[in-house]
Amino acid sequence: MATDDSTQSLDIPDDCVNVADRTGPAAQESTVSAMIEQDDTNPDIVTITYDSITNDDPNLGVDIPSRLEVVDSAGFDDHYIGGSDFYWNTSSDSHWISYRMSSFQSTESHDDASPGHHTIDYPHSENSIIIEIPDHAIENVTIQPTDEGHIGSDLAYLGDHTVESRDVGCQTFEVVVDDDVSRWFDANDRLDDLEVAAKAINGGQQFETVSIFVTPHDLGDVGGFNRGFGNSIVIEDYNSNRNPSFLWIHEYVHSLQQDTIDSNLYWTVEASANYLSYKIALDHGLATSVEYDAQLAPGYMAYENVTLDRSIHHQAAYHHGAAVFAQLDSDLENSETSIYDVFDWIYTDRSTDYDDLQAYLAAEANLSEGTLEQYDERVFDSQPADEQYQNSWMGELPPRVALEIGALFAPGFRMMSIVFLPLSVCLLGNTVIRVLRLRPEFDF
Ligand SMILES: [Zn+2]
Repeated sequence: MATDDSTQSLDIPDDCVNVADRTGPAAQESTVSAMIEQDDTNPDIVTITYDSITNDDPNLGVDIPSRLEVVDSAGFDDHYIGGSDFYWNTSSDSHWISYRMSSFQSTESHDDASPGHHTIDYPHSENSIIIEIPDHAIENVTIQPTDEGHIGSDLAYLGDHTVESRDVGCQTFEVVVDDDVSRWFDANDRLDDLEVAAKAINGGQQFETVSIFVTPHDLGDVGGFNRGFGNSIVIEDYNSNRNPSFLWIHEYVHSLQQDTIDSNLYWTVEASANYLSYKIALDHGLATSVEYDAQLAPGYMAYENVTLDRSIHHQAAYHHGAAVFAQLDSDLENSETSIYDVFDWIYTDRSTDYDDLQAYLAAEANLSEGTLEQYDERVFDSQPADEQYQNSWMGELPPRVALEIGALFAPGFRMMSIVFLPLSVCLLGNTVIRVLRLRPEFDF
C-alpha cells in the first residue's frame, strides 16, 4: 500500500535527547554505587546507602530539594558546600541518607499574578513506594534497588512490579506497573496512547527513554504528574470519570516541553498539554467527539479576574487556555503551519515570549492583525474563546450542560448512558446529571 506523504502523523523525529539514566550507559562511568531500600517500619521512608568512592580525592554532593525531608544520615556534613546540601565526609566509613517526600504544590510560590495550584502526594504502601532520587553533584552515582524495584532518571519505584515497554521512533516508553494496580489497567492500551501521541507530535524535545510509573494509590489533587518537564511520569492506574487517553497523552506532552519560555507564556504549558491530548485522541479514534467536546466545554466559560498570561496551574490555563489553542488550530486550517509546528516553535530550545509568538504567527502562519488582536483579548483580558470549535451535537449546548453530559460518556458510564442519557435529559434533567460531575482539575 502506498504511503500518504501528507499524513503528518507518520513523521517521527529521529533525534532524541539522552538523560543520563542511572541504569543506563552512564553507569559505566560512575565512581560511586549505591543501594536504595524502603524502611520496614516507616514505609514512607527510604534509605540510600553509598558504597565507597574509588577516587583518591572523593567529592560527592547530594542536593536535597525542599520537598525531600531528610530524617537521618551518616557520613555527610549537612551544611552547604559547593552548591550541595550534603557533602561527603572523608573520615567516615559509612555513608547513607534516609528521607521521605513531603506533599508538594504544583506552584510553590504563591503570588496573585500566577494563581492556582494542586497538592500532590507521593504514593507509598506497606510494600511499595514511588520516591524522588536526589541530584548528585561532582561524582556520578549508580543506584540499584536492594530488593525489587525500578530506578528511573529522577524517580524510583520500590516494590513488586512488571515493566511493559515499546519503542516508537527514537523513543522507548517503559510503563512500570505496581503489582497492586487495578486489574482493569491495561498497559498495552496506554502504550497505544503514547505511540499515537509520539507519532502525531513532530516537535518539542523527545527523551530517549520515558518512564511511566503506574500506582494504585491516590496522588492527591491530580491523576498524574510530570515534574519539571522531565522523562519520569507518575500516573494513577485508573480514572473512573474520564477517558484515560487524555491524561496519558497530557503527561507525555509535558515531557516534550522545555522551561525556556517567558512567564507570559506559562499558560501554554497546561493549555497545549490539554488541547493536544484532546485533538490527538479525537483524530486517532481514542476518544469520541462527545468526549472531546466535554473536555473543551469548560474552556468556553469565562474565568473572571484571571488572565491567562501569568497563569501556570489555574483552571483558566487548563481549560480557557485549551480553548484558545482550539481556536488557533482552527485559524491555522488554511495555513502551511500546523498547531504542532506552533508547539514545536514555542518549546524547542529557545527563549520565547508572547510578542515573539505573535510575530511568528503573523510571519509564518499569515494570521491577520485582527485575528491576532482576538488572541490578545483572550490572553490578557479573559475574553472567552468562541464556541464554534466543538465537534458534535454537544456544541449546540451551553458549556456547563455539555460538560456534565460529557461525564456520562466517560468509561464506566458508557454502558449505563445508552439507557440512562435519554431518561436523564428528558425526565430527570440536571438533578441526575449533576451527580456525575467531572473533576476538572485532574492533572498537572
Ligand atoms: Zn499538566
